[in-house]
Amino acid sequence: MHDFQYHGEELYCEEFPIQAIAKEVGTPFYLYSLNTLENHFRAFDSAFSKVEHLICFSAKANSNLAILRIFVRLGGGVDVVSGGELFRAMKAGAPPGKIVYSGVGKRPDEIEYALEFPILMFNVESSQELVAIDQLAGRMGTKAAVSLRVNPDVDPRTHPYVSTGLKKNKFGINLQKSVDEYQLASTLPNIKVIGVSCHIGSQLTDVGPFVEAVQRIKELVRKLRAEGIQIQYMDLGGGLGITYDQETPPHPKEYAQSLLNELSGIDCTLILEPGRVIVGNAGILVTQVLYTKEGGEKNFIIVDAAMNDLIRPSLYGSYQRIQPVQRKNQIEIVADVVGPICESGDFLARDRQLPKVEPGELLAVMSAGAYGFTMSSNYNSRPRVPEILVAKDRFYIIRQREDYDDLIKGEFIPDFLA
Ligand SMILES: *Cc1c(COP(=O)(O)O)cnc(C)c1O
Repeated sequence: MHDFQYHGEELYCEEFPIQAIAKEVGTPFYLYSLNTLENHFRAFDSAFSKVEHLICFSAKANSNLAILRIFVRLGGGVDVVSGGELFRAMKAGAPPGKIVYSGVGKRPDEIEYALEFPILMFNVESSQELVAIDQLAGRMGTKAAVSLRVNPDVDPRTHPYVSTGLKKNKFGINLQKSVDEYQLASTLPNIKVIGVSCHIGSQLTDVGPFVEAVQRIKELVRKLRAEGIQIQYMDLGGGLGITYDQETPPHPKEYAQSLLNELSGIDCTLILEPGRVIVGNAGILVTQVLYTKEGGEKNFIIVDAAMNDLIRPSLYGSYQRIQPVQRKNQIEIVADVVGPICESGDFLARDRQLPKVEPGELLAVMSAGAYGFTMSSNYNSRPRVPEILVAKDRFYIIRQREDYDDLIKGEFIPDFLA
């Protein structure tokens, strides 16, 4: 996080004082550091440099066009989970041959859209989806490259909402059944099986579950090859965690080494789909204090950002570090940092020790670059906030603030109500 540092008492993003950005664009806003984004991508990419590999950044972590473009320029591909994300990846200039398409519920129109380019592969999550893709590809006179997303049934030991690789989760195909599914796939005329994929969860802070999963996937690849099914790609998904508070996740180098130790001689192109680990600590949410309420049972700091802007605390009870943009006060208080939304679940922090702040002061909600803006909504008819990218001593608006007209775009009052 060395790109978000105090110079004296002022918090900077790279070489730009954050207070000055707020003056120009207003609050709240998301703020990303180009240097951190590039460094994180390069560190992850180079950790796998010993083997054939492709880093497909998981667009759902942060799908802003400029952010996707940064990774595309560094040679990355994109992991998409919807037609909309595929559209974004294409707009960002991603080569279709570097796009993988994951997700349990791909609609026919989305599958057709992906077949038109065509993309590198579909990560298929059920036999019905396999048949649907085969039929659509047949109708379009093309062949669909697929890998099956198998569920290795390992416990990622993370929050239940972001655990995806257990039998009870909706994702993937049961590992035991997957050989049958592969056999089905190899009989379908418009399907070309090229790989195997998995993704076991998000915000993992230990390599153990990744290693377990890769061991199971490796066994499957051996079995499939023995059956004459060609596997060229092994997609190990994303999920590597970051430090929000006290977590000590492995460095990408360590993560890569643990995986590669299991994979010597396997002769597959590796695909990785990191999201959070690349962008999480490359972005913050800047918000302004509106009011404070002190002296009751609890202290409250009411800010102009809310759960619609950053839902992670409300949704997962997750911790986001909060620090003042200008360090003014030595006195600390314990307070809840809450937004203006009419829900008691609308908080950014609870019982947090913070310097005493006054209305008008700015707070930085740290580690907000992943699953921040992309999970934001217009709840309470709040326009979505802008996204700003800092490169050294310059900043760029990479998404403008929505206005009230944006809120009602596409809404109509039928004539009979006029
Ligand atoms: C969400 C997701 C990812 C990215 O997960 P992170 O924890 O952000 O790295 C990768 N692959 C798939 C299939 C996903 O659904």
